[in-house]
Amino acid sequence: MLGIQEVESDDKSVEPADDLRNEVLQFNTNCPECNAPAETNMKLVQVPHFKEVVIMATNCEACGHRTNEVKSGGAIEPLGTKITLHVTDPSDMTRDLLKSETCRVEIPELEFEMGMGALGGKFTTLEGLLKDIQTLVEKNPFTLGDSCTPGRAEKLSAFSRKLQQILDGQLRVHFVMDDPAGNSYLQNVYAPEEDPELCVEHYERSFEQNEELGLNDMKTEDYETEKASSEQ
Ligand SMILES: [Zn+2]
Repeated sequence: MLGIQEVESDDKSVEPADDLRNEVLQFNTNCPECNAPAETNMKLVQVPHFKEVVIMATNCEACGHRTNEVKSGGAIEPLGTKITLHVTDPSDMTRDLLKSETCRVEIPELEFEMGMGALGGKFTTLEGLLKDIQTLVEKNPFTLGDSCTPGRAEKLSAFSRKLQQILDGQLRVHFVMDDPAGNSYLQNVYAPEEDPELCVEHYERSFEQNEELGLNDMKTEDYETEKASSEQ
């Protein structure tokens, strides 16, 4: 009667997520390895005690290449997250983990650091991620640092050996996941109790980290205020 029309956005914005939760979506892509037409499956998955993520898997029938990419479903968290697991038991290998695209991985005892973007987003186990690191380092030894250093081959084989010892539960190390976007997770096997070997710290991002995430150019605070006042 007043000529004001209800905006129908609320109901509609919920639907696509519900659909995703209940079914696997498929779309056509090309294999990143051989470029043959391939199908990508996409599904929304709830990580227990964490959040929802989108898992995208591509299986190529032509060359057998398989990829499994995870996109964090949510936005960048207000704080960064640093997760440190003291690997003390072979069963630690079965812990689930979510490594977002922005997460750095460190194993200080091995002087190993893997930067943001390497390996993409992964929803796997600690064992799965360590195996991915093993493959990555074997394929591209430059990830171990200065390529001109003499004795690179020895360094590489020593690293592989130690990584294998971790996988076999023979070497105790600290496994660190540092995600300035706060979108990474490592399973607490004692949840909801505290896990004595797992330390999760939340921290304020530095200017450089915000720069890397592309946040300094965005006026997020104004946007938040406008959004909040329009909701009232
Ligand atoms: Zn292929």
